[in-house]
Amino acid sequence: MADIIQLLPDHVADQIAGGEVVQRPASVAKELLENAIDADATAIKLIIKDAGKTLIQVIDNGNGMSQTDARLSFERHATSKIKKAEDLFNILTKGFRGEALASIAAISHVDLKTKQENQELGTQIKIEGSNIVSQENVSTPKGTSVAVKNLFYNIPARRNFLKSNSIETRHIINEFQRVALAHANIAFTFFHNDNEIYNLISSNLRQRIVAILGKRTNERLVPVNEVTELVEIKGYVAKPEFAKKKRGEQFFFVNNRFIKNAYLNHAVTNAFESLLANGYHPTYFLYLNVPPKSIDINIHPTKNEIKFDDEKTLYAIIRSTVKHSLGQYNIAPVLDFERDSSMDTPYEFKNSKSETPKVNVNPDFNPFKPEGKSSYQNYRKEPTANWESLYTGIDIQNIEVESETVNTDLFSEERSSVKTYQIHNKYIVCSIKSGIVYINQHLAHQRILYEEFLENITVKEALSQQLLFPLEISFNKDDITLIKEIKEDLESVGFLFDKILTETIVIKGIPVSITESQITFIIEQLLEDIQNDIPDSSFSQLDIMSKSLAKSLAIKTGTKLNFKEQEELVNKLFLCKEPSLSPFGKITFLTVNLDEIDKMFNN
Ligand code: ADP
Ligand code: MG
Repeated sequence: MADIIQLLPDHVADQIAGGEVVQRPASVAKELLENAIDADATAIKLIIKDAGKTLIQVIDNGNGMSQTDARLSFERHATSKIKKAEDLFNILTKGFRGEALASIAAISHVDLKTKQENQELGTQIKIEGSNIVSQENVSTPKGTSVAVKNLFYNIPARRNFLKSNSIETRHIINEFQRVALAHANIAFTFFHNDNEIYNLISSNLRQRIVAILGKRTNERLVPVNEVTELVEIKGYVAKPEFAKKKRGEQFFFVNNRFIKNAYLNHAVTNAFESLLANGYHPTYFLYLNVPPKSIDINIHPTKNEIKFDDEKTLYAIIRSTVKHSLGQYNIAPVLDFERDSSMDTPYEFKNSKSETPKVNVNPDFNPFKPEGKSSYQNYRKEPTANWESLYTGIDIQNIEVESETVNTDLFSEERSSVKTYQIHNKYIVCSIKSGIVYINQHLAHQRILYEEFLENITVKEALSQQLLFPLEISFNKDDITLIKEIKEDLESVGFLFDKILTETIVIKGIPVSITESQITFIIEQLLEDIQNDIPDSSFSQLDIMSKSLAKSLAIKTGTKLNFKEQEELVNKLFLCKEPSLSPFGKITFLTVNLDEIDKMFNN
């Protein structure tokens, strides 16, 4: 048989490799920022357009390149950073593979300008898909500017695979933050579509953390310092009361390189021990300095992972160092550990007075009356003739309400057709013709709220309550960017904004279902959910938002409901489009048929 293996043409090989190093605009931003740092820049500017899809540019005032080096920098495995194999064990620079520029140039339009200090004129090189289109001398300041345009222009599949602008921007912000946190002494600016997102002056570590994560971070930070033979640790942890439900604010840097390491993260979390409520994650910024020989950063092309020689000892050192810092700053347990875990209150609510969440009861509400004036009118366009048709997609025969006439007014006590009981402040039990239905109140309410929010968002008819005094809440800039992006959606569920400033928002109206004391928590939760989820389209963003609000606001397990509330819940649930599942896919109710019960007795 003939030989069938062929070597790929260079440009194809480059494209494949390019796609490996460059997963998304944020990967380009990261590589360019790191190159600027390796070039000893003291000021670095990141400029992006359309979430990096149109432009990602990094301008630095570093060492620049000679004409020859500028040209060579786009060759694969061309690097000034290591010369021989041994150097691999002594890496102090960010880059060392010499792949980034070659990979980027293979899948975009690159415009490079660079000049060394002693040169009169600099070099400009334009490359499109690995082909040099032009090279000339230009006058340009000392340093390097790399503009990457039209990323993935020649790999449409990859381009189409990119997520919404808000998601891609978020990834870029994350990379930017990591680099900026790793190098507090370097000044950074960051522009997106001509808006300044960050302007960070050269500063110390604490100032840098505060500049990135917001003023309110300052009081939360507890310093960490330890020097041992194996490792030098410095940085900050946030006091436990500021732990987050999101893992976002967890930063490990090893020799000034951001890394992810679940094992070491565990060491920190473990040091907090019982200081954290269930499901909460500590915030930390920990900088480890280790001899370059003791680590291997060559594991993963994107270099977020790292291997340590002596991970176990490192674990122990980190754990005890963090513990020590927490102890020194006198952070006593603040939680009541005797509490019933099913009654868990989100940490942020600890000090606010608790209110029993209400199921809003609308006494005029009659889902079966076509002319009813309930807010459900626009919610269910078609008045439903009987319960059975409400169960689309589930076993209809088995659920039949124990009422003769479906036109019964469900809300008059004496004629009520649905008899409900609440058991263990958790389930609503309801007798139906074919047997019994058990409804999980929390999950059912999530479903109801979720559909309400979705409906509100799509028909833009949310009910809002004006606040007596506008409420000012501070967020970090990064959160503010996200809030701006979802502002319209927030408005469509009933939030009214007075102002959105660089680090604060002023709210003048909130959805009727929310109380003032819940707002901060709800918005934080929402931002977290949006950040953690990676939706495919803007529709999904609305979906996440509705889910998040529903999750935050649904009546909790453990809440006692009066008869009317129970009934309301049951009725609303079965008016939902998909009553059987919570927005997160959990079963909201169970039915037990009479014959199943009969069978149990007969056995
Ligand atoms: P690596 O960083 O792994 O060496 P890159 O492809 O990112 O590989 O860069 C190739 C080479 O180009 C670098 O080794 C460096 O010499 C040069 N270079 C890249 N960016 C810059 C910059 N901003 N300033 C100066 N030199 C740079
Ligand atoms: Mg590099």
